[in-house]
Amino acid sequence: MVELKIGDCVIQVVQGDITKETTDAIVNAANRTLLGGGGVDGAIHRAGGPEILEQCKKLGGCETGDAKITTGGRLPAKYVIHTVGPIYRDGKHGEPELLRNCYIRSLEVAVEHGIKTVAFPAISCGVYGYPIPEAAKIAITTVKEFVEKNPHFKLVRFVMFGSDTYGPYCEVLKSLGGVEI
Ligand code: ADP
Repeated sequence: MVELKIGDCVIQVVQGDITKETTDAIVNAANRTLLGGGGVDGAIHRAGGPEILEQCKKLGGCETGDAKITTGGRLPAKYVIHTVGPIYRDGKHGEPELLRNCYIRSLEVAVEHGIKTVAFPAISCGVYGYPIPEAAKIAITTVKEFVEKNPHFKLVRFVMFGSDTYGPYCEVLKSLGGVEI
């Protein structure tokens, strides 16, 4: 794992299954309906049970780059923050800004709910097809800037499911001063 300390906050990149995380909140890479999907979204709904979907139905969907919150149902995490990443086309359709907004809005929602520990998956890096090195750079620099400005968080953990994302996310955190532990 790779770790970088920013004041009282630790940013980590680890490999694992986000549904097992014990952070206050986990972030879901959802789609705009918020009514469930494949990938990490499907895994979160399966592990968390029907309570999450019941709450999602009342949220009226979510725009790309925005984030909304539900409880965690049967998950160890108390909350799920649902965000919608951009579908990657060619990088010239606002994808970088939209991906950046996912991280900012998720962290804003966390602050509003007093959530101090958060786990993120590699948003848009699955079926939405974002080039992984570019997504990693946006994810980590955006989170780093946010926690530098908001001395609220204790832990922001990137939970990478496969080595395809784990390697590039580790590299970016190391390039910003992160150390392997
Ligand atoms: P998107 O539609 O935003 O691309 P996906 O769910 O298809 O979302 O993929 C996002 C990332 O989540 C991919 O890197 C995928 O490997 C990863 N992923 C899938 N299941 C899990 C899980 N249980 N925990 C953490 N990450 C996961």
